[in-house]
Amino acid sequence: MKIGFIGLGNMGGPMAANLVAAGHEVVGFDLTAPMPAGVVAAGSAAQAAQGAEVVITMLPNGAILRAVAGEVIPAMAAGAVLCDCSTVDVDSARAVAEQAVEAGLDALDAPVSGGVGGATAGTLTFMVGGSDAAFATVQPLFAVMGQKAVHCGAAGAGQSAKICNNMILGVTMIATCEAFALADKLGLDRQKMFDVVSTSSGYSWTMNAYCPAPGVGPKSPADNGYAPGFAAELMLKDLRLSQQAAEAVDADTPMGAAAAALYARFVEDEDGNGRDFSAMLPRFEKRGRG
Ligand code: NAD
Repeated sequence: MKIGFIGLGNMGGPMAANLVAAGHEVVGFDLTAPMPAGVVAAGSAAQAAQGAEVVITMLPNGAILRAVAGEVIPAMAAGAVLCDCSTVDVDSARAVAEQAVEAGLDALDAPVSGGVGGATAGTLTFMVGGSDAAFATVQPLFAVMGQKAVHCGAAGAGQSAKICNNMILGVTMIATCEAFALADKLGLDRQKMFDVVSTSSGYSWTMNAYCPAPGVGPKSPADNGYAPGFAAELMLKDLRLSQQAAEAVDADTPMGAAAAALYARFVEDEDGNGRDFSAMLPRFEKRGRG
């Protein structure tokens, strides 16, 4: 397939490299990131999009997505699909999809989970919003870049699924970390805590698969000095998107709001920036109730 790829940073770079390795023709554009081997460099986003059957974007946020979409949509071939894999606000995803459809194109919002490791290994999970036809067109590319693509519904459904999942993740990580810190102060051995909780009703992905306590459970960023992994500032971004969406539809999300406030404090006022989001555990360890 002929693919335009815009935004070849930490995630987009390896995703584009996997498409090239699978035999697709990829023309790329990024303001700063180098092109992976085999990706043909274009002089602009519009140039990368010209003549492509699918244009993939992997950009930092909704404002940048809207700006790039404004440039590429007029350059795209009739019937082509604009597939945004960035994590952005639901409103931007829907606005860009609407603009694409008005221009005679099709569009998908297809944010991912799996991080840089999943992007490199080609094992991402895609959560996808948009038409059945567009999903069918891009499905072979999802199969190259990922291990699973779930068609969640109409435009915006992919971003909705992503922020709901990550709201659960942020809240659960905090709960797991504060419980470990409480267990410490009660004199409970961390390994015993893991042995009980990981097989009891408090179990979760954050405890069982990504344990925030070093030396306990399977290998995780905690065993690597809390180098990310999934950085606390990216968790903060997703939690803020969840709260923006909750405000827009008048949903009551007190735990999501508390998690967003705590990660904001950790990233912006404390030492959380650049650390894995599980570094909440050493944060709680150092603190008392005051
Ligand atoms: P990144 O900052 O490494 O990459 C973004 C790239 O977009 C950069 O190379 C930047 O130069 C480029 N860019 C910005 N504006 C541009 C423009 N106008 N035209 C062309 N290129 C432009 O970020 P990333 O970690 O690759 O994340 C990309 C997206 O994926 C984000 O929305 C993020 O939330 C999401 N995401 C990231 C992870 C992760 O673990 N890194 C996991 C899941 C989802």
